[in-house]
Amino acid sequence: MKKGLFSITVLTVAMSLLLSACGEGSEKGQNVSGERDGFCGDLESFAPTGKLEGNELFVEKVENLPEKFIMGVDASSVIAEEDSGVKYYNFDGAEQDVFKTLAENGVTHIRVRVWVCPYDENGNGYGGGNCDAEKAAEIGKRAAKYGLRLIVDFHYSDFWADPGKQMVPKSWKNMGLDAKSDEVYKFTKDTLKKINKAGGVVGLVQVGNETNGTLCGETGWDGVCELMSSGSRAVREVCPEALVAVHFANPEHSGTYAEYAKQLSEHDVDYDVFGSSYYPFWHGTLENLTSVLSNVANTYNKKVMVLETSYAYTPDDTDFNGNTVSDSATGLTKNYPFSVQGQADALRDVIDAAAKATNGIGVCYWEGTWITVGGASREENKALWEKYGSGWASSYSAAYDPNDAGKYYGGCAVDNQALFDRDGVPLPSLQVFNLVRYGNGTPPEAEE
Ligand code: CA
Repeated sequence: MKKGLFSITVLTVAMSLLLSACGEGSEKGQNVSGERDGFCGDLESFAPTGKLEGNELFVEKVENLPEKFIMGVDASSVIAEEDSGVKYYNFDGAEQDVFKTLAENGVTHIRVRVWVCPYDENGNGYGGGNCDAEKAAEIGKRAAKYGLRLIVDFHYSDFWADPGKQMVPKSWKNMGLDAKSDEVYKFTKDTLKKINKAGGVVGLVQVGNETNGTLCGETGWDGVCELMSSGSRAVREVCPEALVAVHFANPEHSGTYAEYAKQLSEHDVDYDVFGSSYYPFWHGTLENLTSVLSNVANTYNKKVMVLETSYAYTPDDTDFNGNTVSDSATGLTKNYPFSVQGQADALRDVIDAAAKATNGIGVCYWEGTWITVGGASREENKALWEKYGSGWASSYSAAYDPNDAGKYYGGCAVDNQALFDRDGVPLPSLQVFNLVRYGNGTPPEAEE
């Protein structure tokens, strides 16, 4: 996703098992079924298997949903949020570890982005959660306590990578392709080892983020595929049970996914999952999403999934930094109302579209825990964004990304798309991950 408001213009019972299942040197390699599924074996999950009660939203049942279907939430900014004073609550109104709350409501995986070095020479963070390998390990450890596996999202950059930019990390800047490829391998390996050592359970690893034909400063398929292959090789060595995923955006651009998959095949990239972003307001129809993913799955015998999606539960901003989605935003397709029910419908429908795709294995909600840091003014919030990296970018990012983050740095542009409200209380839409398995409520009456 494009991260800044302005950049859119460019458009423990199981602990011992958990630790051994995906750790370095694991000899199991694959699951009991003989095929990697992103769940790292038959581990006990703390997620409920029965239907959650007391939810008043209408959620249409998703038919033919596999038992093991990845229900992910990206929570990359949680630590920066908590450092900024944010507290998270459960449905009973008690303060509770946000990872426990996610697990209790049907979430199976936590996604974390990893940047190489999101800090300036004085150690000031660029923002966006200051997501480095240490943060990923810390999140992985906390998530594993509640049976949650990790989706590790390597950007191979020092800051945001997306279709608009794929900047090379500053310490790799003047390297040729071979040297850069070695760095990708080493960084992937070192980071995954760090996560394993901390007790995180890696279910899936992305070698690149929204790489529409560019990655880490490379703009041709030979270079892109070589870097992806180096990342993949490291994953196979350190986390042999984990799925390797590639990740692209803009499924609505006709023919692009078929071309990307063809290039990956011709360059012999070793991967399991072809992943896509799907933001309902930008990325075309659900039918098209299912179709383009199924085409790749059928042609190359790959698994497919939605690695990023989200929708607004309110049109209102809550942190004095304008949002990408609002009533006044232009260029959006408003398929659902900006309400909790609208958000629930959007998420339910994306799960349905992914489940309908050939070999569809899951959906991950993007930054479901990124809410306002809670100050009463922009100035109060800005102090926290700058100090803890809880905004999308800090002023310090200018040293690395002067033309975008360096100009437009600020707070959160997606606080109205989180699965928690401005006070850290979970929204009823969080329970969609559970309720899609059963169906819930009655359809609202059509407006006359
Ligand atoms: Ca905002």
